[in-house]
Amino acid sequence: MNGTRPKMQRNATGIASALTLGCALAFNTASAAAAEQSLHLHNLHTKETINVVYKRDGKYVPAGLKQINHLLRDHRRNEETQINPKTLDRLYDIGQTVKRNYPSIAIKFEIISGYRALQTNNALIAAGGSQGKDSQHTHGNAIDFRIPGVRTETSRDVAWCTGSGGVGYYKQDGFVHIDTARKRFWPANWNPAHVNCAKFK
Ligand SMILES: [Zn+2]
Repeated sequence: MNGTRPKMQRNATGIASALTLGCALAFNTASAAAAEQSLHLHNLHTKETINVVYKRDGKYVPAGLKQINHLLRDHRRNEETQINPKTLDRLYDIGQTVKRNYPSIAIKFEIISGYRALQTNNALIAAGGSQGKDSQHTHGNAIDFRIPGVRTETSRDVAWCTGSGGVGYYKQDGFVHIDTARKRFWPANWNPAHVNCAKFK
């Protein structure tokens, strides 16, 4: 960019090439914008909200991931980890599918849980929680979320239909768990074999 400025001042040819370059840059910006993937997240514990681009042209954006890692930190210990970007891709795909099927809904994910340090996870289990001992949350692979305006059952079904990995359905608390470990589901009284994935565009 710096190299174009002296040319513009020197001669008409320089201006022409600078303009051509300008158009090329504008075009590139437009096409890059089309390939941007962003996530709108609100952490229910810390009340923090971000809306950031985490992937551009198929490449993860470090600055975006950094903000997301912070928002999804273990708020009890104020400790961050690197959230598995594949889990973010899962969340993004869920949001896109919901958006296509319910265009009037603005997709914002409310976050119940992201990263949980092992100490936090153990403390929650000791207090009678149902957390798994080797929870995917402790590996930065899992996110518990809900989408305001969307039924939990719908988010659950979309999560099941849009990717591999785990899907947990927390009916009472109104949220869905996703992770990037092997494909599995819980609780046992929900059978995803009955989910009609064809109904989602
Ligand atoms: Zn979870």
